[in-house]
Amino acid sequence: EVVRVDLGSRGYDIVIGQGELSRLGDRLKSITASDRVAVVTDETIHALHGGAIAEALSDFRTHMIIRPAGEDQKSMAGLDAVLDSLFRAGFDRSDTILAFGGGVIGDLTGFAASVFKRGATFVQVPTTLLAQVDSSVGGKTAINNAYGKNLVGAFYQPRLVLIDTNLLATLPVRQIKAGYAEIVKYGLIDRPEFFEALDDGIGADVLSLEPNALREAISVSCAAKADVVAQDEREGGVRALLNLGHTFAHALELTAGYGGALLHGEAVSAGMDMAFEFSARLGLCPVPTAKRVQDHLSHLSMPIRADMAPFLTDPDTLLSHMRQDKKNEGGNITLILARGIGQSFIEKSASEAELKAYLK
Ligand code: NAD
Ligand code: ZN
Repeated sequence: EVVRVDLGSRGYDIVIGQGELSRLGDRLKSITASDRVAVVTDETIHALHGGAIAEALSDFRTHMIIRPAGEDQKSMAGLDAVLDSLFRAGFDRSDTILAFGGGVIGDLTGFAASVFKRGATFVQVPTTLLAQVDSSVGGKTAINNAYGKNLVGAFYQPRLVLIDTNLLATLPVRQIKAGYAEIVKYGLIDRPEFFEALDDGIGADVLSLEPNALREAISVSCAAKADVVAQDEREGGVRALLNLGHTFAHALELTAGYGGALLHGEAVSAGMDMAFEFSARLGLCPVPTAKRVQDHLSHLSMPIRADMAPFLTDPDTLLSHMRQDKKNEGGNITLILARGIGQSFIEKSASEAELKAYLK
């Protein structure tokens, strides 16, 4: 399956399927004349799938850059290490820099590719479900600093995204569920029929890594994201819808502290539950609809608001975290709310009083 991201001269294909990794070499030959590829990955992925990527790139001169796993790599030190390795190996901007990993490796490698000699050919081969349905598509790249997450970065589109669902076989179930949260999100934003299909059983099949369900759900998710990105590459408008559940999630993540207690996708799952519950409370969305979203998530043992009790004890701190969200403008809190399943919209001035009452 191929999904096109329509960005004119910067447009690219997302190739999705079981065993696609074995066809990576041919795909690369169709986008570049260079036979050099730098593969940036982490130690965990390298131990599990290093042999498979080496074999897929056997026609290329390959340079491996293997970093420790973890969010820490999205830092100036991580960036410097990747760039240094590229210079030492004598890479040019016409050579390919390939991210082989989850969102951490993708964000770090994409940013490195964007600044390496003012921009080198960049390719994504995502290995987590979250990266396959979300972070590898759309061209947001970034590292973190002391002031917060993703504050230093660039919009830099890949030339190819290649998704092999077989890579997910080694991913821990907690990470699979975290990725599933972003899949449901696309249904809840504007694809009600996709939500129905997930609720009818495809969702459960995705979580058990059934190949057809995975291909279907990943394709729809990538098409949904590609659609929004093509309309609004730099998030001046509709792209903000992709943040459904994310303002609540962001506040929960800050409260929990980054580093394991709560995965991003887990916070997003509960955050979407909260966005629907809050919409219902405001009378924007029917109460049974919000209940349906919650039931869908809890039947799949995905986190909902009730599971976040340890991080919901202090409404004032949560609200102050929500005030710091990057989406906000002019001192107002921007929230993605919903009138129903597949009927999300951007609310640019959410009532702080209502929010505080809800969080209490
Ligand atoms: P991650 O990259 O940290 O990967 C999670 C863990 O899984 C890591 O320990 C990794 O080593 C391991 N792993 C990866 N692939 C594996 C496999 N196939 N088998 C076994 N283990 C594997 O986490 P993530 O959830 O993929 O990404 C999170 C990051 O993505 C965050 O930094 C977030 O900011 C970023 N993000 C970016 C965007 C974007 O648009 N650029 C969107 C969403 C999230
Ligand atoms: Zn997210």
